Amino acid sequence: MSMKLGIIGGGQLAWMMKNAADKLGVELIVQTPSPNDPAVSIAQHSIFAAVDDAAATEILATKCDIVTFENEFVNLAALSLLEEQGVCFRPQLAALAPLLDKYEQRCYLRDLGLPVPQFLALSGEKKLESQIENLGFPVVLKARRHGYDGQGTFIIPDFATLSKIVNQTHSQFLVEEFVPFTKELAIIAARSVNGEIVIYPAVETLQKEQVCRWVIAPAQITQEQSLQIEAIAHKLLTSLQYIGVCGIELFLTAEGKILINEIAPRTHNSGHFSLDACETSQFEQHLRAVCGLPLGNTRLHCASAVMVNLLGYENSHCDYQKQRQQLANIPQATVHWYGKTEARPGRKLGHITVLLDQDHTNGVEDIIHKIESIWYPQ
Ligand code: ADP
Repeated sequence: MSMKLGIIGGGQLAWMMKNAADKLGVELIVQTPSPNDPAVSIAQHSIFAAVDDAAATEILATKCDIVTFENEFVNLAALSLLEEQGVCFRPQLAALAPLLDKYEQRCYLRDLGLPVPQFLALSGEKKLESQIENLGFPVVLKARRHGYDGQGTFIIPDFATLSKIVNQTHSQFLVEEFVPFTKELAIIAARSVNGEIVIYPAVETLQKEQVCRWVIAPAQITQEQSLQIEAIAHKLLTSLQYIGVCGIELFLTAEGKILINEIAPRTHNSGHFSLDACETSQFEQHLRAVCGLPLGNTRLHCASAVMVNLLGYENSHCDYQKQRQQLANIPQATVHWYGKTEARPGRKLGHITVLLDQDHTNGVEDIIHKIESIWYPQ
């Protein structure tokens, strides 16, 4: 009998599990707000409910063996009651608990001795000025929960802007030093039920307006830096007793120092290249880990790869067939189109991966430029 896996969240990260689920004989059942969400088309069943609707997750759990997450904006307290009643969540809720609030996540990483930017939680009880006096401007202000793709993250040039945002918004905030990084890096790691850990090659990512535009695999970093990043992943996943795939976003400074920006307890945009460029994709790896199967090989089967996000740039119901065809004609390219019915500025509509035979130091900018000039209107 096939394994039945419930997924909380039905966006593109769940949609990209389809091929791996077919290969491994896993049935997918999703909990997602809208029938238009990408993974509805690939799931055996769907439950239409918000991801933080624990009553819906209770129904989801009756239909499957294990419940996993493609979205971490869940109500952990309500889910804990289900876990106590025997629902099997992977990663288990104790592994998610320190990660869902950005301030608590930073504290957890710092307490583990892992490198993070200087940070603090804003308190309504103390004078704002005195709280941030050690940081200097610019500072980075982050909503403690529910931030994604830069929503809830603000780079603040001065005190007046900071106090305006803090006073206008009712969210709880984390403030941290602005890191003048030379590169942003990321790594995908997975841990199995038995504690085996596998790690993908570190990648370089580029964010514009806090949204990922492209990823190059592998990153051009020293071997020492690679080892340091792998050691971070090992320490973190072991400490959390994590089961599944996890994305780790990092900064590299001019002095060669690595700092952790953020942990995503799920598959991650920076690992999409693995669908086309690796022996085992991050999506297959996640299914393997949470279903208790042996983990797969994370090796690149090409010299390097570039992944470019196809972000919405207008409000539209267009399916962009013509641009997608032009992109698909690029040699060694695969276009992944998430089938969203509505485009909005900044929304992730799809991505393209191009495999490269040689080391990517030559020509990768040209490929990115070509893709972006086909995709975005001039
Ligand atoms: P989200 O959770 O919305 O993805 P992040 O915290 O990852 O938000 O921030 C989005 C982007 O903002 C990062 O990829 C980086 O480019 C920039 N950023 C975030 N924190 C800092 C920081 N402390 N210093 C400099 N840039 C930052």
